[in-house]
Amino acid sequence: MRPFVYERATDVADALDRAGDGAVFLAGGTNLVDHLRLGVRSAERLVDITRIGLDEVEELPGGGLRVGALVRNSDLAAHPALRRGFPVVAQALLAGASGQLRNMATTGGNLLQRTRCVYFQDVTMPCTKRDPGSGCSALEGYAAGNAIFETSPRCMAVHPSDLCVALVALDAVVRTTGPAGDREIPMTELYRRAEDGPETDTHLVPGELITHVDLPPLAPGTRSAYRKVRERASYAFALVSVAAALDVVDGRVRDARLGFGGVCHRPFRARRAEEALVGGPADAAAFAAAIDAELAHARPGRDNAAKVPILRNTALAVLAGLADEGARS
Ligand SMILES: Cc1cc2nc3c(=O)[nH]c(=O)nc-3n(C[C@H](O)[C@H](O)[C@H](O)COP(=O)(O)OP(=O)(O)OC[C@H]3O[C@@H](n4cnc5c(N)ncnc54)[C@H](O)[C@@H]3O)c2cc1C
Repeated sequence: MRPFVYERATDVADALDRAGDGAVFLAGGTNLVDHLRLGVRSAERLVDITRIGLDEVEELPGGGLRVGALVRNSDLAAHPALRRGFPVVAQALLAGASGQLRNMATTGGNLLQRTRCVYFQDVTMPCTKRDPGSGCSALEGYAAGNAIFETSPRCMAVHPSDLCVALVALDAVVRTTGPAGDREIPMTELYRRAEDGPETDTHLVPGELITHVDLPPLAPGTRSAYRKVRERASYAFALVSVAAALDVVDGRVRDARLGFGGVCHRPFRARRAEEALVGGPADAAAFAAAIDAELAHARPGRDNAAKVPILRNTALAVLAGLADEGARS
């Protein structure tokens, strides 16, 4: 590990003052410290932001929530207002990592964790995300985890977060402050596509601090859920995952939100499926037609074609579960 300076910021203004000149924000450290150890990343200064506040969940008028960037994943998953209004987010959080990691990991850090692509983490292999211009080893190498949507020969890595899949589906908004002033960035616009340049994951600028994530309210009666498929029962990243919210009135879909994880360079919003669902019947045939409309745009490669039927089955199971839950209530 290369030497670095450790500093502790006292508040948001102090954190911003300390940003720049090779500084990197340190939150829970569960991703960043691994990368410093592996040599995936280097930093001259680590600015610890865990004592700057931003560790509250605030209930907004109308039923939304404002989540501080330093709220730990465990605390957020256990928050009564989140569990009541946004079960899909609580389930996504609890599907991630382990209890110990969730106790350390923060909301902002989860959004900015980097891909788990094996070539990104192996500094002996070419990876354009880690070493711009060096190419993508996953194109011809181990490719079972590669993206199937918005694929690009520049980078086949997928975004690893569970939480982000739920946040993208729910139209969450990321609030930031930094060199460009205060900004509100929809989760669906935070991340870059591989084709736009995989070296950088997001549209944040250096020194920009995530302060909060806002969850807009869902219509009363909306049901939501998250399901993750992985190679072992716990402590593994998603092979594929599905976040869904369904508002069904008199047997017809009034609103549908769908996010897919493990399949794209960014947390993927399944808008084609949503469009096909809205206004139609909440039944198995309509669900299958909608998911197939989205999957028609999947571009699996040699080794990851299995993601397509697994994603299809997972999405259909989630939608059927939500429709049944609504019909029973
Ligand atoms: C073994 C293991 C298994 C895991 N499994 C899963 C899983 O199944 N699902 C899943 O979703 N995640 C999983 N994770 C990832 C884990 O959730 C992330 O490491 C964690 O959420 C990152 O949060 P952190 O606070 O520790 O971030 P840090 O490691 O402190 O920071 C990560 C990045 O975010 C930046 N950053 C942090 N906070 C801010 C902020 N407020 N503003 C601007 N920049 C910021 C840092 O500078 C850094 O670049 C796993 C991790 C490990 C080690």
